[in-house]
Amino acid sequence: FWAHCLLKFEKELSAQQYNTWIKPLRARVNGQAVQIVAPNKFVMQWVKSKFFNRIETIALELSNSVVVELIVDSSILQTEPALMQTASYNDAQPSGANETPIAKSQPRQIEKPVEKKPFPSRAPVKNIKSEKSSGLNNSFLFDNYVTGRANQLARAAAIQVAGNPGQAYNPLFIYGGVGLGKTHLLQAIGNELKKNKPEANIRYLHAERYVSDVVKAYENKAFDEFKQQYHSLDLLLIDDIQFFAKKTRTQEEFFYAFNTLIEEKKQIVITCDTYPKEIVDMDERLRTRFSWGLTVAVEPPELEMRVAILRKKAETLKINLHEDVAFFVAKQIRSSVRELEGALNRIIAMANFTGHAIDVHLAKDALRDLIAVRGRQITIENIQKTVADYYKIKVSDMFSKKRSRNVSRPRQVAMSLARELTNHSFPEIGEAFGGRHHTTVMHACDEIEQLRLNDQTLARDIGFLTQVIRD
Ligand code: ADP
Ligand code: MG
Repeated sequence: FWAHCLLKFEKELSAQQYNTWIKPLRARVNGQAVQIVAPNKFVMQWVKSKFFNRIETIALELSNSVVVELIVDSSILQTEPALMQTASYNDAQPSGANETPIAKSQPRQIEKPVEKKPFPSRAPVKNIKSEKSSGLNNSFLFDNYVTGRANQLARAAAIQVAGNPGQAYNPLFIYGGVGLGKTHLLQAIGNELKKNKPEANIRYLHAERYVSDVVKAYENKAFDEFKQQYHSLDLLLIDDIQFFAKKTRTQEEFFYAFNTLIEEKKQIVITCDTYPKEIVDMDERLRTRFSWGLTVAVEPPELEMRVAILRKKAETLKINLHEDVAFFVAKQIRSSVRELEGALNRIIAMANFTGHAIDVHLAKDALRDLIAVRGRQITIENIQKTVADYYKIKVSDMFSKKRSRNVSRPRQVAMSLARELTNHSFPEIGEAFGGRHHTTVMHACDEIEQLRLNDQTLARDIGFLTQVIRD
């Protein structure tokens, strides 16, 4: 995996960037995770902000269940070579861990690495299949996409588009935070269409891949071929389009591709980390076009949905996951589906290592450090303050008896967030909101839950607040 990352980065970055940031990194396998080790905090932070997304994307291309961690260890300065661990994933599994999702990862479908091999040939690049593929990964389907309030609109739109490409909404623009299922949904659209119309010309690709294709076409003066490739598609699925930021040449090319496809009623689906209007450093004409069709959000999953996701994953892995364990994990891990998966993987690994059955006790043990980090951060007080700031009301209005809409609605939002993001009970939350009765809190939670289904602004506010509070 790391060998593959090195190849990619070497191709994608300038020599200076590569040598400064990527070369000093080392990779090693730690249980279920691949640790990327940085020699100091500064490099770590830089890599985290500039390249970690890309590393995760590459990991995802290889297998959808690789967990990548970034850590600091200054002792690696003395360690050579770049690949401290050259074993492939499967070799690195402890015996008895064959039930883990990593060992079961899907066939690898990724581009062939360039010919030169600037690092030891023991690197596990030999598993990489060469093909000019559709980019589709058949493990991401509508069937295994759990639905809840957080994603039902996005899922419904995606299903429509897959059933009537070019006819329903064009483009479909799906946005939301990291690890909330955008790529899954995008892939599911492709897989669904492929199932129904095997002859359809479908292409899934990450925006960065498109950028590098443009660069390549530019270098080889092969724009005709490039155009031909993209302009003849029936379905173009572009993931994480925020990566087009500042790439003016790419944006220009994409503008043509976009216009051609839309004109010919060929479907385009785009994902992004923000709403079209908020994408930075993007051509205004593109931003406008992105909202021509339908724009839908995927939001952080609510508790019940998190439980459902865990149970679904467990079922797929043929793991027996008790409801109380699922609830325990879902209560602790709140920010994204990817983190939920990571947590489940840890628990399974722990069960395999120790030979113990999966129960709450074991889950607590496996997630100890995650819980420690999260537990201390989110407090009701913090939620009240953040929500009050956001709606520009006084924090004291959270406890006051005022009932005017402009304070009562934010108060209800704060209550429902307190319920969602902390482990406090209804009575405890009522107490924290000026000694209100627990039924008032329950009512507030119900009401907000109902309202956000139809009120896009409220839904967005809550999504935004959730992310801010978690950070
Ligand atoms: P994003 O692209 O938004 O960062 P991904 O689509 O990569 O997120 O999702 C992260 C992981 O979580 C993937 O393994 C994906 O299959 C899984 N996942 C996300 N949403 C769901 C869902 N609703 N049901 C089941 N699995 C999901
Ligand atoms: Mg993604």
